[in-house]
Amino acid sequence: MKQYETVIGLEVHVELATRTKIFCGCRTDFGAAPNTHVCPVCTGMPGSLPVLNRKVVEFALRAGLALNCEINRYCKFDRKNYFYPDNPQNYQISQLYLPICHDGYAELDLPNGKKRVGIHEIHMEEDAGKLVHDEWTDSSLVDYNRSGVPLIEIVSEPDMRSAEEVIAYLEHLQSTMRYLGVSDCRLQEGSMRADVNLSVREAGSKTYGTRTEMKNLNSLKAIARAIEGERERQIELLEEGRPVVQETRRWDDNKESSHAMRSKEDAKDYRYFPDPDLPPIRIPDAWIEQIKADLPELKEAKAARYQSEYGLSAYDAGLLTADKALAEFFEGTIAAGAAPKKAANWLTGETLRLLKESEQEASSIRFAPESLAKLIGLAERGVVNNRSAKEVFAAMFAENADPEAYVEAHGLKVENDAGLLAETAKRVLDANPKAVAEYREGKEKVLGFLVGQIMREMHGKADPAQANEALRNLLSKQ
Ligand code: ADP
Ligand code: MG
Ligand code: ZN
Repeated sequence: MKQYETVIGLEVHVELATRTKIFCGCRTDFGAAPNTHVCPVCTGMPGSLPVLNRKVVEFALRAGLALNCEINRYCKFDRKNYFYPDNPQNYQISQLYLPICHDGYAELDLPNGKKRVGIHEIHMEEDAGKLVHDEWTDSSLVDYNRSGVPLIEIVSEPDMRSAEEVIAYLEHLQSTMRYLGVSDCRLQEGSMRADVNLSVREAGSKTYGTRTEMKNLNSLKAIARAIEGERERQIELLEEGRPVVQETRRWDDNKESSHAMRSKEDAKDYRYFPDPDLPPIRIPDAWIEQIKADLPELKEAKAARYQSEYGLSAYDAGLLTADKALAEFFEGTIAAGAAPKKAANWLTGETLRLLKESEQEASSIRFAPESLAKLIGLAERGVVNNRSAKEVFAAMFAENADPEAYVEAHGLKVENDAGLLAETAKRVLDANPKAVAEYREGKEKVLGFLVGQIMREMHGKADPAQANEALRNLLSKQ
């Protein structure tokens, strides 16, 4: 079979975290009762007029500047006309001719080095309402709460070549938007939505193949599977000498296959024209300069600082900064008095493990940085041993247990009774003459086994280092 290369470009919608909608004062909160955050503007009533939310422009500028874009200092809104019940005006206010940002790039850290993915443009637009299909009554209901929620659409160049690159790109966007405070970018909740444009071409070819666009991808895993599935489908067509049809396809992650939704529309199908209700926007240089100056420390800069300031490895610094919420948690734990390396260990180890296991993100960690600092203190002062510390941590993670109270309630304090320890050690030695003999033959390793026996006898509440010492003591005397 011929060798093929996959070519991928993404159109990513990001819901902006403004308090109110883009053209009216309705709230944007996710999850409210249907049609409670609506007004004449966002339900498209005749005679109502849109008024642009300044914050939306500011957020779009922040995103664009962080993604190294040029700014159109004179930009406009256009109407994109289409008819669908979730779109009460029968047009969406978007930007076609003069999008606010263009020609930027995202710099990705990939296993084999850095790679730039071009950003073609970023434009501002309003979101549509949501149709809820009620199978019980066999009818469709419409909720306009989301209608008029501000979006930016980030359009990449077709610069990605694999699912790994696409995921790195999306994670870069997520981290950047979260650091900027522009969006929480949750794929599951739809505050970030990625449409995947994909084509294949023979390796070495200079021209692009015909692409399809895939929608309905609501997790990174689904995106990776969809890319694999679509790549195979297109290669199969080409191998059979059949053409790839340019169309929009819907990915069904349960069936792990896609089906054609509609043929691809062109801009002309939408009868775009400048929105006569909204004046063009002029963006003064001073505003751009101010936003640039106020950009927060982003992932890459933070990771470099963690290495130089706290002596963390590049790997750990990368893990801690991948998500702003985790980086803030780390900084909070240090501020509460914990040693940076210890805090880093708990967060990159147990915390990320449990988050992954429960499919959660760092922003949903239930305990406070102060609790982690307390736990680190307890372990450092030898009040609990490592094993108990992990147990306490699990309870903090699951139910926000207070570490000190939990240790108290579950009797996890290390038994500091030297007499009891010596007694137990003696009993363990007496019960294991074979291990003792092996130790005497020079097999130091059996000490580990004997410490384990002491732990068992003392229900996990011995300090391993002390147990070790007690054993050596007795063995040297015998
Ligand atoms: P349209 O205006 O028809 O939606 P665009 O030129 O805006 O098309 O491209 C939409 C997306 O598709 C962009 O992210 C772009 O990178 C991507 N894209 C364009 N051509 C290809 C191709 N041949 N293969 C893969 N992706 C492509
Ligand atoms: Mg497009
Ligand atoms: Zn409204």
